[in-house]
Amino acid sequence: MTKQICAYCGGQADLLCDYRLGWERLRTKMRQEVPHLATLPSHNVPLRYRHIHTCDTPLCHACAKHSGPIFFCLRGGHGFSDSIDYCPDHDGHGTSRMEITGLQARLLRQRWVAKAKARWQKHTPSAEQATLF
Ligand SMILES: [Zn+2]
Ligand SMILES: [Zn+2]
Repeated sequence: MTKQICAYCGGQADLLCDYRLGWERLRTKMRQEVPHLATLPSHNVPLRYRHIHTCDTPLCHACAKHSGPIFFCLRGGHGFSDSIDYCPDHDGHGTSRMEITGLQARLLRQRWVAKAKARWQKHTPSAEQATLF
C-alpha cells in the first residue's frame, strides 16, 4: 500500500474524507436485476442500486474534522467503532444528493485535493528547495 500524505499539511494520512460528493446508479447491476428500472429518474432509484462517491481526500488526524465515532454492534456481542472524518472544508452539511458519474466524482476529487495542496504548498515554498541541499 502506498503511503498517503495529508492533502492539507503534507503529514502522514491515516484517514479519508467521508464527505459525500454524490452517487451513481449501478447501471450494470440494474440492467441485470431490474432492467425495467434502469432508466428511472434519479430520485426514484432505490438505495441498493446507488453507489456513493465520497471525497476520499487523505487526511491526518490533526487536520481531519471528526464527526463520530459511530458504534457498530455485530451479532455475537462483538462491536467496533469507526469515526466519520471530513476535510476541514467539508463539514458534512450539504451532503450531496446529486446523481453524478464516476468521471465527475474523479474530477471533483482531483480539483479538491489540488486546491487543498496549493494552499499549504504556497505557505511553505522553501520546503522543497531545502531538501536539495
Ligand atoms: Zn494534515
Ligand atoms: Zn473532503
